[in-house]
Amino acid sequence: MIDLKSSREIELMRRGGHILADVMDHLSATAKAGMSTLEIDEEVEAFIMGRGAKPAFKGYRGFPATVCISINEEVVHGIPSAHRRLKEGDIVGLDLGCIVDGYYADCAFTMAIGEVPPPVQKLLAVTRQSLELAIETCRPGRRLSDVSHAVQKHVEAHGFAVVRAFVGHGIGRALHEEPQVPNFGEPGRGPELRPGMVLAIEPMVTMGGSDVRILDDGWTAVTKDGSLAAHFEHTVAVAESGPDVLTRKSASAGAGPRVGQRRR
Ligand code: MG
Repeated sequence: MIDLKSSREIELMRRGGHILADVMDHLSATAKAGMSTLEIDEEVEAFIMGRGAKPAFKGYRGFPATVCISINEEVVHGIPSAHRRLKEGDIVGLDLGCIVDGYYADCAFTMAIGEVPPPVQKLLAVTRQSLELAIETCRPGRRLSDVSHAVQKHVEAHGFAVVRAFVGHGIGRALHEEPQVPNFGEPGRGPELRPGMVLAIEPMVTMGGSDVRILDDGWTAVTKDGSLAAHFEHTVAVAESGPDVLTRKSASAGAGPRVGQRRR
């Protein structure tokens, strides 16, 4: 069953979402070569706790950290480590979640560390655009698979592949609620979108094939063919007037961290 949220519940999720938006802004301006992924994790945890929220991922099914940090061919769920340092030319996926008064918010973005070649810049841009196109479909009367189809159509038109083993999800009092939100599918299927539905939409896109495997740490998902992967995510409420992105501060479409440059 898809749980519809009241405006009070949505405002609590927005409070968490704005904390995460501030973290994303901060990281996109400060993450640089030489930093360990554990340093980033500790900094984000302190920031979230300092704002009176709780990290959502730490302890979730035993995940040991606050941020999932996934570098290059790692797709999602990378575990921060004191031994893993960012290098020039890496692309780094940062997946963040927090809890405010029992309600979850979830978002992710992928950034380049220093210069990356144009095809890699394109991977980041196309993945981010596919999320924006999916967000645009979050309107009453559209169907769930319209969200999925928007991602797949844009990604494949640019010669990239969507990961199918992981999906977006409903979100609210739990991190993962119904429905599942795949990043592929025919349009016009599934439940009709209604005001009060809140979805975490999260395209995961690779430069090679869609297949992934899990490393021996039991968490880190990497592309089977070693190709680079990108991941962007927002928590989005379906409102009467259209999409309401809870994990960014500007209401305008297309806001949020820019790839490879600071947000103004
Ligand atoms: Mg998520």
